[in-house]
Amino acid sequence: MQLIDRARGVLAGGCDSPVRSGWGIGAPMFVQEAARGAYAYDEEGRRYVDYIMAYGPLLFGHTHPSLMTGLDAIARHGFVWGCTHPQEIRLAERIRAVLPSMERMRFVTSGTEAMMSAIRVARAFTQRDRVLKFSGNYHGHFDLALIAAGASAADGSGGIPAGVRRDALVARYNDLASADELARGLEEQIAAIVVEPIALNMGLVPPADGFLEGLRERAHRWGALLIFDEVITWLRFGLRGAQGRLGVAPDLTALGKIMGGGAPIAAFGGREAVMAVLAPDGQTFTGGTHGGNPFGVAMAHRVLDLFESHPEYLTRMEQRAKSLADGIRTILERRGLAYAVVQQESVVDFKFRVGAASRDYDDARAADPAAYGSYYRAMLARGILLPPSQNEVMFVSTAHGDEDVRETLAAIEASFDVGQCGTSHDSKAKS
Ligand code: PMP
Repeated sequence: MQLIDRARGVLAGGCDSPVRSGWGIGAPMFVQEAARGAYAYDEEGRRYVDYIMAYGPLLFGHTHPSLMTGLDAIARHGFVWGCTHPQEIRLAERIRAVLPSMERMRFVTSGTEAMMSAIRVARAFTQRDRVLKFSGNYHGHFDLALIAAGASAADGSGGIPAGVRRDALVARYNDLASADELARGLEEQIAAIVVEPIALNMGLVPPADGFLEGLRERAHRWGALLIFDEVITWLRFGLRGAQGRLGVAPDLTALGKIMGGGAPIAAFGGREAVMAVLAPDGQTFTGGTHGGNPFGVAMAHRVLDLFESHPEYLTRMEQRAKSLADGIRTILERRGLAYAVVQQESVVDFKFRVGAASRDYDDARAADPAAYGSYYRAMLARGILLPPSQNEVMFVSTAHGDEDVRETLAAIEASFDVGQCGTSHDSKAKS
């Protein structure tokens, strides 16, 4: 029996996270057998240049030696202790040194937990229930987060209580007027404004000028807290995260993904006075068996060490991502396909939709899934593994070399040439 059938026979829907199934674009599920550097391998041992990169964490590729060797030295001390320990304290100090808005923090194991906890802290601090969020942003799979979420949660609204729905105010990304409209008359009930400071779960959607500043000002005026979800952006956009880069300080921040170099560790934190609501200082609870475990913490130190010893990594990745984006632009232009190619740092993205780059989820949702599905399959056949959803982006890692970029561009060129890529019905508009 093929792995895909065995998966369906034992895992719900054949997978642990729906995007992996390929269902959104009518593609077969990719079952990965192995990984190395920039490559994923299927069960026949075929090599693919991987742009999924675990949906963000693999900034250094799959198997960077500094992250993969000598793990027995960590294991010798055990994986989980259940006590506060020196390396955990030191990790928090290192994080605060680069993200000063995180005056106090706590370690957890996933981005979901980090965001869920940050929202609880905000509610406890403000003594309010409502949360203003943005459609197409993704913050994990707890109830409130799934309302109008992006990523592969788009249609996953089952099992969410009506009471939770009532507490969510869903605004349009990059649209302060829509936030104001929703908040009108409810300003004093809003505990938090939660946002991806650079959105990466409806494709790549950078914040428009003044958007984050506008949210900062509103949070202040309404007496709400501003929560930045930096689960993808921290480290991918540098040690100081999106907040350092864009110069807007949130009250609370969630981190995850890259920070463990592949190991599950995440964090949330913020202003000292806000975090003081947490027990034992306050009366709000978060906690967990694996929170701050020595394995995840040791991996996070390795990630920070790598960052500090290789300042050239980010610029090198950005150059590769830029050549990839420029190459894609040329290929599309030559064919009169007016799709916007967007690139920031090591993230590259384009959608099968004519027109300017997406500003919000309405734009992102207008992309043609069938056209992307054909493109995805054509690229897979040429040894390039793309995310099986247009809500996702292409992640370039330090392991992707110039040759990988050339191979990818050749595959894109060939896929379009033989007409294997469906193009959206109005795609030739500008030809
Ligand atoms: N926030 C953002 C911005 C994310 O992209 C994700 C995961 N894609 C999460 C939160 C949830 O993280 P996790 O999958 O580790 O629970």
